[in-house]
Amino acid sequence: MRIAVPAETQGAETRVAVTPETVRKFIGLGADIVVEKGAGLASGITDADYEAAGASIAKNAKEALKGAAIVLKVRRPAEAELASLPAGALVIGTMDPYGNEAALEGLAKAKVAAFAMEFMPRITRAQVMDVLSSQANLAGYRAVIDGAAEYGRALPMMMTAAGTVPAARIFIMGVGVAGLQAIATARRLGAIVTATDVRPATKEQVESLGAKFLAVEDEEFKQAQTAGGYAKEMSKEYQAKQAELTAGHIAKQDIVITTALIPGRPAPKLISAAMVESMKPGSVIVDLAVERGGNCELAKPGEVAVTPNGVKIIGHLNVPGRLPATSSQLYAKNLFAFVETLIDKAEKKLAVNWDDELVKATALTRDGAVIHPNFAAKPAPATEGSVQNG
Ligand code: NAD
Repeated sequence: MRIAVPAETQGAETRVAVTPETVRKFIGLGADIVVEKGAGLASGITDADYEAAGASIAKNAKEALKGAAIVLKVRRPAEAELASLPAGALVIGTMDPYGNEAALEGLAKAKVAAFAMEFMPRITRAQVMDVLSSQANLAGYRAVIDGAAEYGRALPMMMTAAGTVPAARIFIMGVGVAGLQAIATARRLGAIVTATDVRPATKEQVESLGAKFLAVEDEEFKQAQTAGGYAKEMSKEYQAKQAELTAGHIAKQDIVITTALIPGRPAPKLISAAMVESMKPGSVIVDLAVERGGNCELAKPGEVAVTPNGVKIIGHLNVPGRLPATSSQLYAKNLFAFVETLIDKAEKKLAVNWDDELVKATALTRDGAVIHPNFAAKPAPATEGSVQNG
């Protein structure tokens, strides 16, 4: 049972899908691991580290992939890699399939079974496989570090012989996994922290971290959380009330960190150009939602924009990739935990249970077809001559 780890090729990715720790664990399950030369370098892992853990090093991706039963990735394989993927192999990574249906077809045509780790159900058994949480947590931490680095003042209050430095005010908008870590990190650095969200459950979480909660707590707010634990898209009326409440607050902040997302929808716009204009020169906005359209109207993907009134708007892409060693460490553990469920430990061979709910939720392609219900071609109309409406 060969497991291949080709180097990442997409979008200057700095993370890697295995660490020496998980290489040892895979070998313990009876696998051979082949890692492409240099695959871990950006995460601080050398070929020698992988070899010491028992992996062999291939000189290029093609050689690494030869005969692989499982291919582990951070990102979806690029089109140029498809031809080298062995037919029948399981290809596991974050696949980013929405809006990339052609790439999905490509994986199906390559006859691989592609699995999207980001579709892992958020149930107790799969918590250890939850790449969204492991990476969002680190993004939340890094957002504060990035914001602090661009901010021209200190965060904690300091009383020195030369005078008193006031504590910075940091406002976190959206308190899911990333936002909660941002609150904790900002508090550790001594800032005065406030936070907002549309889900009522977040109020207690924010307060338990020592931050102040600020939100429009009307009837709609009470219903804003879906059964799955996510936010709904709020009505125009709610959005207007929310903007009115937060506008005055944002004007007084030193750093605003936004993390608000709604599954399957563009990120809600929470900071208008007028709100940015109301902020003091030198203040900073960190928009973690920039890859999904951004929470701040003026955020630019991949850039640190400076507005005419001197506000810096940070729009870094792939924020977990800005902490590659830690992100890889946790991502690799998430992958291992899932792959372990696909292996028969006694026989030391692949044994995928296609009826398992984790497999069903994450499998995108199999045997040449797109099989995931969100993407598979809709069946043709059931009966000939049936009346079609519309
Ligand atoms: P997410 O990334 O989808 O969204 C981030 C936050 O933005 C959410 O808290 C959301 O409520 C908020 N938001 C959306 N629209 C907003 C708006 N207009 N204004 C302000 N905030 C807005 O969320 P996530 O980090 O993936 O977490 C979603 C939920 O899943 C949370 O309840 C989290 O605790 C839960 N969760 C559960 C598990 C598990 O049980 N295994 C694991 C991880 C997360």
